[in-house]
Amino acid sequence: MKRHNFSAGPCVLPQEVLLKASEAVMDLNGSGLSLVEISHRSKDFVDIMEKARSLALELLGLEGKGYKALFLQGGASMQFLMVALNLLEKRAGYLNTGTWSDKAIKEAKIYDDIYEVASSKNANYNYIPKGYDIPTDYDYFHCTSNNTIFGTQMKQFPDCPIPMVCDMSSDIFSRQIDYSKFDLIYAGAQKNMGPAGTTLVIIKEDILGKVSRKIPSMMDYKVHISKSSMFNTPPVFAVYTSMLTMEWLKNLGGITAIEEINQKKAQLIYSEIDLNPLFKGFATKEDRSMMNATFTLANEDLKDTFDTMCKEAGINGINGHRSVGGYRASMYNALPLESVQILVEVMSELESKA
Ligand SMILES: *Cc1c(COP(=O)(O)O)cnc(C)c1O
Repeated sequence: MKRHNFSAGPCVLPQEVLLKASEAVMDLNGSGLSLVEISHRSKDFVDIMEKARSLALELLGLEGKGYKALFLQGGASMQFLMVALNLLEKRAGYLNTGTWSDKAIKEAKIYDDIYEVASSKNANYNYIPKGYDIPTDYDYFHCTSNNTIFGTQMKQFPDCPIPMVCDMSSDIFSRQIDYSKFDLIYAGAQKNMGPAGTTLVIIKEDILGKVSRKIPSMMDYKVHISKSSMFNTPPVFAVYTSMLTMEWLKNLGGITAIEEINQKKAQLIYSEIDLNPLFKGFATKEDRSMMNATFTLANEDLKDTFDTMCKEAGINGINGHRSVGGYRASMYNALPLESVQILVEVMSELESKA
């Protein structure tokens, strides 16, 4: 049976990427050796790393603008503390829009004072706060572009008077925004870019070197930049597969092309959620995420019926996060429009049955 993978992460990747990645595990570029058994200092792998780094900047429109791309380990969660270690001297401002921002705040607080410029915690994060002020004398401002768990997404970003740092783990490469507004962007690969195991970090170099503390080498962005993202053994499989996904996206027409498809997918599911009386959307309409649609059943008694129907249709991974309940359909770049069509058909079939 054809599967429709709505998993929130790790998540769906393009079939052709999975195929090429598995071929490289057996034989990289006809060398007779596996991607995972050659030296990371070999020309084959150095070329892969360099291609991945330049593709990331190219797709985001950041080439030649003073940015460096790194593929690090430790997940987006490691970036919560690396950002603070490298940039936090006095005080930073954080926008609290969900579990992940909250965790980023918690880690940064270990090092210094954090000011929450605004928070939607009191409403279980079902909206994005707006109209807040960002103090001009802080070290940086941190926000989360897409709240994977709650299904909200920042549609606008502030004109930030200080360096702007953004956790884009779950919507990087999904929509056209002015990425040059940001001074540091990070994203765990396993949502929109590749398998788990690497984190893309994009840094405007001139924001570094301004804190007085000593930074351990592995945590120091400057060290990783000076070693071209090869300070120690990089996660070769995750970097290679991410590179393949970026190539796939480029061949498709880049972010502008995928954004059109992502909009279609989101419109399809949200119009079903709005029109079908059996379902209720969780996130405030104007802040709804194009990547993660969160919704609940108006009548919990239908849960078993709906779950069975989904299972029979090959739908996988739509259970909501425990802090929201209900359902979450994650529609990352590689999820085909057809999968959303199937889900919407099942939702409307439930209505005709009920
Ligand atoms: C998944 C996720 C994280 C955590 O990523 P890890 O790589 O597991 O550390 C952080 N932020 C956001 C927005 C996420 O969706």
